[in-house]
Amino acid sequence: MTLRTALLAWYDANARDLPWRARPGGGAHPDPYRVWLSEVMLQQTTVPHATPYFLKFLTLWPTVTDLAGAPDGEVMAAWAGLGYYARARNLLACARAVAAGHAGVFPDTEEALRALPGLGPYTAAAVAAIAFDRPANVVDGNVERVMARLFAVATPLPEAKAELKRLAGDLVADDRPGDWAQALMDLGAVVCRPKAPLCDRCPVTAHCAAFARGDPETFPRRTPKADRPHRFGVAYVLTRGEEVALVRRPPKGLLGGMLALPTSDWRPARWSEAEALSAAPAAAAWRSAGEVEHGFTHFTLTLQLLRAEGEAADVIWSPRRDLEALPSVFLKAARAGLNALL
Ligand code: SF4
Repeated sequence: MTLRTALLAWYDANARDLPWRARPGGGAHPDPYRVWLSEVMLQQTTVPHATPYFLKFLTLWPTVTDLAGAPDGEVMAAWAGLGYYARARNLLACARAVAAGHAGVFPDTEEALRALPGLGPYTAAAVAAIAFDRPANVVDGNVERVMARLFAVATPLPEAKAELKRLAGDLVADDRPGDWAQALMDLGAVVCRPKAPLCDRCPVTAHCAAFARGDPETFPRRTPKADRPHRFGVAYVLTRGEEVALVRRPPKGLLGGMLALPTSDWRPARWSEAEALSAAPAAAAWRSAGEVEHGFTHFTLTLQLLRAEGEAADVIWSPRRDLEALPSVFLKAARAGLNALL
């Protein structure tokens, strides 16, 4: 059996049942809006984590035109917990372009999809293949791993990316390209897992060079990563009865446009008490309330917490129960600050 036949037959019998999918082999194609939304969410999180967000978005905004008409702040709040707010901003930019420039209908070719703002080459390929059955080369981390193992690619990531993409591209064909793309994704997610691949359940062992060598888990090879830098900042938990003072972060940059606790700058050195007090958003009886750690993609952060009761100008007073909508780093800091025993 060829690699292609074996993998598609496996997919027909084992495709994951996901709310943005159509069943394989039936010729039905899922709603491009669902495919697009799911792919954007899945670029930074797992299926179990993304699924409730996906369903919430569909309830709030059943069509791309509904999403395009949503206020920025509501979309950002619904996105909180999915990370990378730049993606939520790109999501909105793309939805608005589809609504305004394409009458709410996603274009059906990879080229036209790539021309939309905020829609990158990976997502364009995924939507073209899955929603429109175009022979697009859909390569995410799962597919890279499967290619690295099938062909025992010795070049380490990230240098190997172009080679892995070319190898995946050589396997794309006009017959069932949407199912092929999803079959590779499923194989990578369920069987050819990063650690402990389930080769004994794999439909393509006969075609796998890494399996033949006996060391599949050592692929893809990787260049050792430099450690992420560490930053320190101070977060201020200012309360007024049952309300907490928040600020809106500047539109550009990390967590741009999001509601947040007031903070100092984030820098490589820890903040002294005097420095932390001088950067506070209000004069108040600030007391230390511990600290929290948070990992971002490019650095790790210690937020030293100060808490006080008082008034401040230029803040947004938020009921405590609404803090759940904060980005996770600030939610974590707010909870720790509010629960600290002073
Ligand atoms: Fe991955 Fe093992 Fe299948 Fe090769 S045989 S593709 S390493 S699961």
